[in-house]
Amino acid sequence: HRSTTYELLEPEKVAAYIDARPELADRVDTSSLDVTEVGDGNLNLVFVCQDGGGRGIVLKQALPYVRLVGPSWPFTPERAVAEARAYAVHGRFAAEYLPAFYGFDAERYILAMEDLTDHRVWRGALTDGERHDSAAGDVGRYVARVAFHTSLFGVEAKELKWLTAAAINPDLCEITEDLVLTEPFSGADRNWFQDELADAAASLQTPELKAAAGELKYAFMTRAEALLHGDLHTGSVMVKDGSTRAFDSEFAFYGPIAFDLALPWSNFIVTMARDAVLGREEHGAWAATLFEQLWDAFEAEFRALWPGVVDPRVFNEPFLERWLAQTQRDAAAFAATEAARRIVGLAHVPDLETLDVEPRAVAGRAVIETVKRLLLDRPETAGEVSAIAREE
Ligand code: ADP
Ligand code: MG
Ligand code: MG
Ligand code: MG
Repeated sequence: HRSTTYELLEPEKVAAYIDARPELADRVDTSSLDVTEVGDGNLNLVFVCQDGGGRGIVLKQALPYVRLVGPSWPFTPERAVAEARAYAVHGRFAAEYLPAFYGFDAERYILAMEDLTDHRVWRGALTDGERHDSAAGDVGRYVARVAFHTSLFGVEAKELKWLTAAAINPDLCEITEDLVLTEPFSGADRNWFQDELADAAASLQTPELKAAAGELKYAFMTRAEALLHGDLHTGSVMVKDGSTRAFDSEFAFYGPIAFDLALPWSNFIVTMARDAVLGREEHGAWAATLFEQLWDAFEAEFRALWPGVVDPRVFNEPFLERWLAQTQRDAAAFAATEAARRIVGLAHVPDLETLDVEPRAVAGRAVIETVKRLLLDRPETAGEVSAIAREE
């Protein structure tokens, strides 16, 4: 690890910072710069920097601690290295689905990227009952491009081993391993949930569900398939009509492709639960179609790329069918773990937390029932996942 004593950015110092960096200096007029810190996440500082002529850039700086808690919880800023790597690598195959990446300051852990304030975060849009019809398909295509081009299917085998070794991200992976893949099923002091959901939370801690979580945790920690985004929930996607951008890839590492498909799916489950208790039938029915929209786009893109497979000797068509089937099955199960942690784990989501006590409990219980069925019945397809979420 490099130093954890480095200068943190402040709004007043941003113009001078940009002037001192040749790769940024021409992107905005720093003499008329307006700088606002907008970070709403748990970890990092985010500065939107806009000039008087309508041009902008965004700077994101990793703090050496967890923003949510403060300096008493130190946390590696190396996560910014992982995010920079993901933008650089994913940008080679899927640039239209990412913010343009303008550079990385490795001394101060600052990423520079396109200003996307004309978009909105997908989570907020779904929570407000908005429809963005191309977003799910775009995310599916993004995951397919990255999955193909950073895996054994698109990269020569020995080169891939070096890439995999270079992309480790142990501290961020540990968060997922603990918060998503362990603690909802084992219990943990930092878990929290509504009093009304105490029974539902306890019902996740059976030997069968623990074993299911163990199986998924094992897959997450051993199946180094592709350079995942790693944190592709709807809070990591910005939408605008006709444009979808995945950002905040600081959890990027070589892991199971199904995990990147699963995080948006888990949020669709949450969206459907919110819509149901609010009586938003039309939006709920639309949200129920997103599982298949995302999967179908992923599958179509992946099949389109398949003729370019690097080693077609045994990675043939029948193999592809089996691989797609397993990936779809695994996505359903990973989605369950992510949904569980949003109800009973450390980090919840405003989609449900903003509801009143009673509907919030009804929605939370529906999500937990969905989680259990996904982990015990093991549906095979996106359509079955949607049907289970609808029934619950
Ligand atoms: P964290 O890792 O702390 O969650 P994010 O990368 O998710 O940080 O950014 C936090 C918030 O800052 C986002 O939810 C979004 O509102 C805003 N933001 C981040 N990147 C951009 C961008 N390129 N353009 C506009 N707003 C952004
Ligand atoms: Mg974020
Ligand atoms: Mg955020
Ligand atoms: Mg983040």
